[in-house]
Amino acid sequence: MLTSRPKGTNDILPGEVSKWHYIETVIREICREYGYTEVRTPVFEHTELFLRGVGDTTDVVEKEMYTFEDKGKRSISLRPEQTACVVRAYVENKLYALPQPVKVFYAGPMFRYANVQAGRYRQFHQFGVEALGSKDPAVDAEVITMAMDFYRRLGLRDLELHINSVGCPGCRPVHREKLQGYLASRVEKLCKLCQSRFDRNPMRILDCKEEICRELNREAPTTTDCLCEACAAHFEQVKKHLDDVGVQYIVDNRLVRGLDYYTNTAFEIMASDIGAQSSIGGGGRYDSLIAQVGGPETPGIGYALGIERIIATMERQGVEFPAEGQLDVFIASLGEKARQEAFKLVHKLRRAGLAAEIDLMGRSLKAQMKFANRFETAYTVILGETEIEKKAAVVRDMTSGEQQEVSLSGVVEYLLEQLA
Ligand code: AMP
Repeated sequence: MLTSRPKGTNDILPGEVSKWHYIETVIREICREYGYTEVRTPVFEHTELFLRGVGDTTDVVEKEMYTFEDKGKRSISLRPEQTACVVRAYVENKLYALPQPVKVFYAGPMFRYANVQAGRYRQFHQFGVEALGSKDPAVDAEVITMAMDFYRRLGLRDLELHINSVGCPGCRPVHREKLQGYLASRVEKLCKLCQSRFDRNPMRILDCKEEICRELNREAPTTTDCLCEACAAHFEQVKKHLDDVGVQYIVDNRLVRGLDYYTNTAFEIMASDIGAQSSIGGGGRYDSLIAQVGGPETPGIGYALGIERIIATMERQGVEFPAEGQLDVFIASLGEKARQEAFKLVHKLRRAGLAAEIDLMGRSLKAQMKFANRFETAYTVILGETEIEKKAAVVRDMTSGEQQEVSLSGVVEYLLEQLA
């Protein structure tokens, strides 16, 4: 073999792809119900967008971006996430002139040069939504409720929804100062990464997964301790709305999430039956991001859910995926004349809208029947020499085993009727 696939990427093979189709169907269903329409943005953007729009002190931008110079000497990056891209599209296409909020969804591949392990890849897929233009806590609650509905509709169980408020540019400096004050005497004991975060992005120290940092953080001032009146009221409203629609949550004061642009509500959904890579989605409000990307001062909120981790969780929990790709008709033929008829008939059947197949491997009649069985074909049409002479075909119902002789010219109509 010339080469294998790059580390951290996956082939989604024919046997797997039906799971993806199913998830995509549920995505479209739920987005229609919640009023989110699809947006498709480029897979790569100017690097600057992510530096400004995600934050140059985040792990994602600092360490994990696929960045390269193109032939025109521009710095380009494969998107590590899509919120910044959607915001760029919103500003560039002046979607702020439309009735607000603008509610969009996306589903597609993201790229991060991450340390590869189970559930952590370099090309992975996210389904996400963004609601741009409203500061109403009802939008926060709508977005969270929608994510939980989506999981429930897929049949996932044992999920934990963690929510927090990280405050606004008004109350964050208060928290930053208190947190740095608390950590100043402990900074030497923190993990290497958190030591480097102390000046640049101390809030991220709060959700470090290293045991030593967790221990040191136990008594650290949390973002919710420092919320201004407006942020505290916003958080209360979000919780009330969630209570009103029966969405259960855990207030998690350590939850700050990786990206710099979050304000107010931050949330994350974990599958409680797995360990390290248990986050199957997360999101939050980003009221400063749109202005940061060069647009008008506009609030926004969204989430991104990891599709690979959702599929893995569904498999682990034994959730059934609907079957896909079954054949309506297989035409088995014996002899050259019958093969020629089979070739004509399969095209007529396909033009009539049926999923039909013939043998393309020169199999024996017995092997053709076995092949038809393997694909759980609904009907098999058998064309032998006798049938061709009689201008007829034998149609077998593969469930009941019953056989019926049908005139060759009437096979399409007969099958259409049977399969209606
Ligand atoms: P984030 O954009 O980092 O908030 O991630 C949102 C969701 O995307 C996570 O909860 C994961 O389910 C998924 N995700 C993030 N990074 C990866 C990765 N490297 N591989 C697979 N899934 C990921």
